[in-house]
Amino acid sequence: MRGSCLCKSIEYEVSQLDSAIAHCACHTCRKAHAAAFNTAASVKYSHFRWLKGEHLLTGYQSSPGKTRFFCSNCGSHLIARRDGRDYLVLRVATLDDDPLIRPEFQIWASHTVPWLCDAPAEKVYPEWEPGHQ
Ligand SMILES: [Zn+2]
Ligand SMILES: [Zn+2]
Repeated sequence: MRGSCLCKSIEYEVSQLDSAIAHCACHTCRKAHAAAFNTAASVKYSHFRWLKGEHLLTGYQSSPGKTRFFCSNCGSHLIARRDGRDYLVLRVATLDDDPLIRPEFQIWASHTVPWLCDAPAEKVYPEWEPGHQ
């Protein structure tokens, strides 16, 4: 399956996911992804390859030994690496194909901010809300 950043300058291919898909609500993921949580899965380096645009990746070390990589053109986060590991952490929301498995759990719920996650069941619209301008 394939994935890409928002501007499509960077594309990658993954032959398989090597872990369950999980949501991470830690405060560094919240900030890095500007979202209530980040959705991730591990992929062994041997199961991952860049198809184009690897030179556009910028890394930010968000904690010792952990570097988050994103597109320097559009800002999409694509992977993270930890020193000494034989796998990378894929930002599953950047996949363009369905991995055919579903998220199984959430980690770092202790970092969840209530104003993002404790809302009563919100209304859902297929596109914009009624009256959107
Ligand atoms: Zn991009
Ligand atoms: Zn996290």
